[in-house]
Amino acid sequence: MANRVEEVYEEVVRRNPAEPEFHQAVHEVLETLAPAIEKHPHYADYALLDRLVEPERQIIFRVPWIDDEGKVRVNRGYRVEFNSALGPYKGGLRFHKSVNRNIIKFLGFEQIFKNALTAQRIGGGKGGSDFDPHGKSNNEVMRFCQSFMTELYRHIGHLTDVPAGDIGVGGREIGYLFGQYKRLTNRFEPGVLTGKGLAYGGSLVRTEATGYGAVMFAQSMLETRNESFDGATVAVSGSGNVAIYAIEKAQQLGGKAVTFSDSSGWVYDPEGVDLDLLKQVKEVERGRVADYVERKKGAELHTEGSVWDVACDVALPSATQNELNEDNARTLVKNGCKAVSEGANMPSTPEAIEVFQESKILYGLGKAANAGGVATSALEMQQNAARASWSFERAEQELAKIMKDIHDDCLATAEEYGAPGDYVLGANITGFTRVADAMLEHGVI
Ligand code: NDP
Repeated sequence: MANRVEEVYEEVVRRNPAEPEFHQAVHEVLETLAPAIEKHPHYADYALLDRLVEPERQIIFRVPWIDDEGKVRVNRGYRVEFNSALGPYKGGLRFHKSVNRNIIKFLGFEQIFKNALTAQRIGGGKGGSDFDPHGKSNNEVMRFCQSFMTELYRHIGHLTDVPAGDIGVGGREIGYLFGQYKRLTNRFEPGVLTGKGLAYGGSLVRTEATGYGAVMFAQSMLETRNESFDGATVAVSGSGNVAIYAIEKAQQLGGKAVTFSDSSGWVYDPEGVDLDLLKQVKEVERGRVADYVERKKGAELHTEGSVWDVACDVALPSATQNELNEDNARTLVKNGCKAVSEGANMPSTPEAIEVFQESKILYGLGKAANAGGVATSALEMQQNAARASWSFERAEQELAKIMKDIHDDCLATAEEYGAPGDYVLGANITGFTRVADAMLEHGVI
């Protein structure tokens, strides 16, 4: 890293102790920015980098709620409003027991560049809670969401900050959050949350968008080498929103998805995943991967190793951060994997990324590859503002165009900086310059 960039990173580590994922996310961006700053030294003026790594606002709050036994429970809520240079803060809410300030800051930081890449007018933010929805009743989830929104509502708004879903937050949770926001504010303000149900202002294709987008991004990468999904074996991790719709799109394009996982284990289904069954188990019954294996002949349940042990042409990590390590990356490369497209945020460790880059396989980092979700959220806001509802075909076409543009912009930037095919450098510098240009015009704020 060039000197200035290194200084900024060291200061981030000093001022944000014990936040390893946040450090990792900042490092991954900063280490690719040196050439941009060398070429355009004004990007180091007015402490721009120092401001970029400091969230504009961090909100932490108590979320008390009452469980079905009448016992009072207390969780912690977060919203990190990281950067609003390009538009209202935008980014999901994560409900998972591992959530803390470090995790939300890493996600919020990534979100700034991802959102800039979509070329929609949205800033970066992220939030959530250490509430664990697993094993909670519907009523418990509703009471938690209502308590969470009872504090969050005063910080958000369609021109201020627009949350959406992430791990543990899907259509059900967004519905309860929206209901409580509406009640507290006495305003039907559809643009305040995205990922809404179709009955009250949601957009077609939002549910599918992240998974579909990650596959579209992979498809564009494959095309640069005259390859495609047709006949490809695809390994997917996770079995939530992103994983399910990544599998769906990969299948539509002629690929065969053979794996998925959750925190209880992973499944190898050599015949190809039965998507209707997977949706039934995960979306309807909220079950575990073992429930799929019980009903699908030939499918194997594993608790040792990982989905990355299965030979594949395309890998789509779609579960969580740092789920794919150096050994996994080496196994993928050894088995002939041609492309990795990240549905999840920061799923590959820095060492795994190095392996992908050294081996010259196609590597699409999450910031670019999974931007389809937030891009479609911005399309949902656009429809809400116009009081319009687009058809599935129209929304999917818009998503496809955005993903193609992101892909091409990353490649063009990589080319410009003498690193052809380096999507990491391309994505980070493209996102950074868009945010930096706006920040410089706004003055020191
Ligand atoms: P879901 O909650 O719908 O699904 C998450 C899946 O990943 C579940 O199968 C879950 O298993 C598994 N998982 C989560 N944490 C772990 C863990 N620590 N170890 C093993 N498995 C785990 O979330 P999404 O599909 O929405 O999100 C998946 C990833 O995609 C996340 O990184 C998210 O940030 C990213 N993303 C999501 C977007 C969206 O639009 N939803 C947009 C962009 C990125 P289990 O149920 O057992 O916990």
